[in-house]
Amino acid sequence: MRPHRGTDVLEVLVVEDDPTIGGHLHAGLRAHGYAARWCRTGDSALAHARQSTPDIALVDLGLPDTDGLDVTRALRTDHPELLIVILTARADEIDIVVGLDAGADDYLVKPITLTVLLARLRAHLRRQPPGAAGIAPIHLGDLVLDLSARRCLLAGREIDLRPKEFDLLTALARRAGTAVTREALMAEVWHENWFGTVKTLNVTMAALRRRLTEESAGDPRAIVPEITTLRGHGYRLETPSLGTAG
Ligand code: CA
Repeated sequence: MRPHRGTDVLEVLVVEDDPTIGGHLHAGLRAHGYAARWCRTGDSALAHARQSTPDIALVDLGLPDTDGLDVTRALRTDHPELLIVILTARADEIDIVVGLDAGADDYLVKPITLTVLLARLRAHLRRQPPGAAGIAPIHLGDLVLDLSARRCLLAGREIDLRPKEFDLLTALARRAGTAVTREALMAEVWHENWFGTVKTLNVTMAALRRRLTEESAGDPRAIVPEITTLRGHGYRLETPSLGTAG
């Protein structure tokens, strides 16, 4: 069975500077059905996590630019739901305590086999399935995205979106009011199984906009967040201003 969340493959952010270990993890995770993103520095990992929403982060402590503990703290602050596993050669008791206190869910000492790592991830996911109950719906004007049920409601009426339309809207809604690059959307919605051109994003975006426009036409008073195109960059879902209702 492929590890997934709804119709989505789970994304693992691998933060590892060692080329052998990083390459092994990246290839191994992908071979086992995860979408893996490999970042070799703490800064690039945090930049990626700001644009995407990984489900799991594997964090090495000895990184070239910043300490893995700082990366762990920053990831925990920005992503309360993220499963964070520290993967390091540091095996001292104090390191383990500090690592877990920094916000990691688990602390594994290298060397560790891929088989054991995958079993640990499965054990965590059984207890804490990403995207399951506990994730609050996103409210934007009269639009509600219920992520755990994968339902989209406009003024109480259900909009039947296609899976990628729902994922695209979710990716924008999670960062409502901020610009999201096309690359980030492609990585998040289509993961690394992305062999298409940017056309696929355009087509899905057009379909999503059409659905929202059609639905709002049936209820002119409904407040529907608009998606603004940022030329040469990406998109921004506007935060509907309250007080314009009625
Ligand atoms: Ca390292």
